[in-house]
Amino acid sequence: MAVDGMTSGPGPTDGHGDRASRHVALAERLARVRERIGRACAAADRRAETVSLLVVSKTFSADDVLAVAALGQRDFGENYLSEALPKIEQCAGRPLVWHFIGPIQSNKTRPIAEHFDWVHSVDRPKIAERLAAQRPPGLAPLNLCIQINISAEPTKSGCSPADALTLARIVAALPELRLRGVMAIPAPSDDPVAQRAAFARVRQVIEQWRADGLRPDTLSIGMSADLEAAIAEGATIVRVGSAIFGAREF
Ligand SMILES: *Cc1c(COP(=O)(O)O)cnc(C)c1O
Repeated sequence: MAVDGMTSGPGPTDGHGDRASRHVALAERLARVRERIGRACAAADRRAETVSLLVVSKTFSADDVLAVAALGQRDFGENYLSEALPKIEQCAGRPLVWHFIGPIQSNKTRPIAEHFDWVHSVDRPKIAERLAAQRPPGLAPLNLCIQINISAEPTKSGCSPADALTLARIVAALPELRLRGVMAIPAPSDDPVAQRAAFARVRQVIEQWRADGLRPDTLSIGMSADLEAAIAEGATIVRVGSAIFGAREF
């Protein structure tokens, strides 16, 4: 993706009136997403503070990020380094927490280790080892989730649930990394029962790690279309993009 892709989002961006109405729309949609999270937590008998909202800003501008940040949102997720790095730079000085959630090529690990607070998409030992070696010494350990290919889709990234335990042990032993949990993107489904079944399989991975003596605290599951099912199955982070920013145009 070209760097200039970040300045183009849907909706008008020219002129103060258009920019102001964009910000009003963002505030309304953010409030609606927070309400959905609150209702899903109540339905699952969970406290609302146990689920944190990760706003996925890929393809949207730094201006959009700053507008959402001004409403109290702290965590933002990005998939593409070439787009994320200038955006992070443009938002410097704000106390934002940046999460890398896209596929990782091994020659791109250094800027991730240097500029992000979390990585959700580690799926092989080589990536974990490079992130650890490249994490700058002055920074806190990099928070890390292992991505699991829960629906066994050949085109999706992520490791198998069986390989995840081996990888989790490797991550837990690296002091520059902090093992937090798992991330998964199940095959899309409109059926809440199928959504929950896939998320339940992700939760079982965490439970298996706990039985092995590891201490994960994060289930990064659920997006705009299925956050309710994810919260019902124990999500601690939901990653939401289009429900806040609108449809993406690549
Ligand atoms: C784009 C993306 C999201 C957000 O998806 P929406 O359906 O727009 O909410 C969440 N997680 C990952 C890994 C993504 O790539």
